[in-house]
Amino acid sequence: MDLQLSPDDLAFRDEVRAFLRENLTPEVVYRSHTEVHPPNEEDRRWWNSVLNRKGWAAPSLPVEYGGTGWSPIRRGIFERECRLAGAPELRWQGLRLIGPVICEFGSEDQKKRYIPPILEGTEQWAQGFSEPGAGSDLASLKSTAILDGDKYIVNGQKIWTTEAGYSELGFFLVRTDTTSKHGGISMIIIDMSSPGITVRPIEMINGDPSTFEVFLDNVEVPRENLIGEPGTAWQQTKFLLANERTSSADIDKAYGDLRRIRAIARREHKNGRPLIEDPGFRQRLTQLELEVEALEWSVLRVLCNAPSHHPSAASASVLKIKGSDLQHKLTKLATDALGPRALRLYTREQAFNAQISALWPGYVPGVTHDMLYMRACSIYGGSREIQKNIIAKIAFAM
Ligand SMILES: Cc1cc2nc3c(=O)[nH]c(=O)nc-3n(C[C@H](O)[C@H](O)[C@H](O)COP(=O)(O)OP(=O)(O)OC[C@H]3O[C@@H](n4cnc5c(N)ncnc54)[C@H](O)[C@@H]3O)c2cc1C
Repeated sequence: MDLQLSPDDLAFRDEVRAFLRENLTPEVVYRSHTEVHPPNEEDRRWWNSVLNRKGWAAPSLPVEYGGTGWSPIRRGIFERECRLAGAPELRWQGLRLIGPVICEFGSEDQKKRYIPPILEGTEQWAQGFSEPGAGSDLASLKSTAILDGDKYIVNGQKIWTTEAGYSELGFFLVRTDTTSKHGGISMIIIDMSSPGITVRPIEMINGDPSTFEVFLDNVEVPRENLIGEPGTAWQQTKFLLANERTSSADIDKAYGDLRRIRAIARREHKNGRPLIEDPGFRQRLTQLELEVEALEWSVLRVLCNAPSHHPSAASASVLKIKGSDLQHKLTKLATDALGPRALRLYTREQAFNAQISALWPGYVPGVTHDMLYMRACSIYGGSREIQKNIIAKIAFAM
């Protein structure tokens, strides 16, 4: 494998850098670099539309539906450059999760109706899969959709629905048949402003709500909002989760974290010397740099070898385990580098509006907030233990 970028890829990287320099503002860059959860919603929607005008909003979608047609290498370059430059992280649910599902499994009408606002960022989505009692064992979900003429009547409860409080639409797993476990599940699109939906925030360990409970009480949903045939959602879900888990390797965030750690360690001191010169610290940082780079090439290898760049379940699970392990270590190293300053927890709004001073430099807000939030990355998208079970099951079957 040639680990050097080709001249064409280097030229592409320069084009991306120039575009980012021209389009990002210092305020947006500052807010993005805090890495707080959830990021600033207006910034994300604005950036979605800026990228769409350039044709760069949706690298995960097929070209015929507005995708970029980039190779996995170009996509990696693009995502890393965006992160390092401080571009807002676009919301995943539409662009990376339901968008590809609609393109693969949806009707022509659904593609026409839902893909353009995903590209423009004017309609944002929530992922309504998990329920109390149905997280790891997702197929035990109990929410129902009963057909009544030309509409479904949906009842049930979802939990941990990220960003549901400010999403226009949701894609929900519901039971359309109670006699079959996996074969009774369907995926349905629901307008989040429908009568009968109640959304309640869940405060996370970092003091901010980024996930929500969603209650569905006799919600009427047009029959044409079901994706594919009734009872076929398990296949759609496996397709979606493999994409989600590969993205959860979070390579671009890892590079952003390394940038942040280096910036902190150049300014902070230990025993009268810059922390970056401390041998113990350098050893930890270098080890993580090597692991991030190794993971990046593993992601690229998996994506380059996968049909249509859609990874297998087992590869996606391996990448997710390693990526979440690295996120834990990187965000821990960032807080360690801050020393006692890490004890001050800025909430999201405090981080965005922080007074910068010599005592509280601009690199402090968000570090502890991010470290606390990222504890969850070994849970969301399917917990670490479940990923190990998937790998074991596939290895055992071989
Ligand atoms: C920050 C955050 C954001 C999220 N966002 C979303 C979202 O947008 N949409 C959505 O639908 N869901 C979301 N989730 C939910 C997430 O997918 C679930 O939390 C996850 O799948 C685990 O399910 P659970 O919480 O029900 O835990 P449980 O399934 O109850 O698991 C509890 C513990 O038991 C372990 N365990 C369970 N079964 C087994 C087994 N068979 N073998 C070994 N160990 C096992 C698990 O690994 C875990 O450690 C989010 C979660 C978090 C924390």
